[in-house]
Amino acid sequence: MKVRSLWRKKNYRPLSFLKHFGWRVRSDNKLNLSLGRGRPGIVLGLPAITDSVSGEPVSPELWGEIQLCWDQDNRQFSLHIPYISRCIFSTGEAVTAIDEGIINPMALATWVDEQTIDVTIINGREARAIKRQRNKATGRLQSKMSKTKNGSRKHRLVAATKRTKGKTRLQLRDFDHQVTRKAANHVIAHKTGRLVAGDVRGIEQKTKQKRRMGRHGRQQLSQWSRGVQERYLAEKTGLDIDCLNESGSTKTCPACGARNWPSGRDYRCKVCNFTCHRDAVGAINILQEAIHGDYVPIGADVVIRVTYLRDEKRWSPVQRNAHRMVQCRKAITPSSAKNQASAETSCKPKLANSSTSSLERVPLVAVA
Ligand SMILES: [Zn+2]
Repeated sequence: MKVRSLWRKKNYRPLSFLKHFGWRVRSDNKLNLSLGRGRPGIVLGLPAITDSVSGEPVSPELWGEIQLCWDQDNRQFSLHIPYISRCIFSTGEAVTAIDEGIINPMALATWVDEQTIDVTIINGREARAIKRQRNKATGRLQSKMSKTKNGSRKHRLVAATKRTKGKTRLQLRDFDHQVTRKAANHVIAHKTGRLVAGDVRGIEQKTKQKRRMGRHGRQQLSQWSRGVQERYLAEKTGLDIDCLNESGSTKTCPACGARNWPSGRDYRCKVCNFTCHRDAVGAINILQEAIHGDYVPIGADVVIRVTYLRDEKRWSPVQRNAHRMVQCRKAITPSSAKNQASAETSCKPKLANSSTSSLERVPLVAVA
């Protein structure tokens, strides 16, 4: 029997041009894209790029690896030029406290004026779902692998594990960036000069010896990407994060100082009937500790404004639109558009979610 591996015709492939080696600006102010030694390169007029945040022009020194792609919306070739943009860092005097958790990765609290505290709680249930799915899938594959005998095709299972892990790794990276972007927006909007977080370093270590939680809880604790999120937030705001002792911060009532043992997500004080979200209570207590050195009760008439945010679905509106267009085209010509569509979508690199880099799409007009 004649057997062949899966094969698909790719109509369009993005071409990459590295900085210094792949592309360079010629002395006559033209952009040269090298196609290798002995071949003439592609010479184009130098595209003008403006920073999407500040609106200033970006000089070619800040450009990175250029990709020549097929723009499926406009049906023409385009250059994708990533560049390092100027970050907007937080400047001001305010103090923002962060309470970190597994269910809600970050809860941020800041005093707006004498009578108001702004709290932003960012939900992280989607990351838990992704991690749970990955753990179940890899567990299944692992148990299959343990039953294999000599000469079996174990490599297929190894490959499947790698595939699952690689996919979720990217999803979780995106999630961490989304969470920290929203946290950084809170920090910058409230003119924060000092960032304080509860000290939970090392909580994920030696969980078995310390008999902390059950085995599922321990797994969640080990897979908590708290350190990465702190690093991303520090990069996005330009501030260093101070650590404070956070013991009892979720138990102490911020209104009267009594200790309660909350169950679930809601906090209710048995002494003064103060009610609030549990993570907001933690953040407010850390905030008071950062300012006063202890859990000083806030006044009874202080208004706590709580905002809930969640990370967004995987696709950006641009990606979703593009997908819809492909689906429409598929419906018209089901056989021919299929290969084309999959090849086209692979041309578009995912937009960087980080604050430090941006991507500009320049339509390719003249090819000299
Ligand atoms: Zn109370």
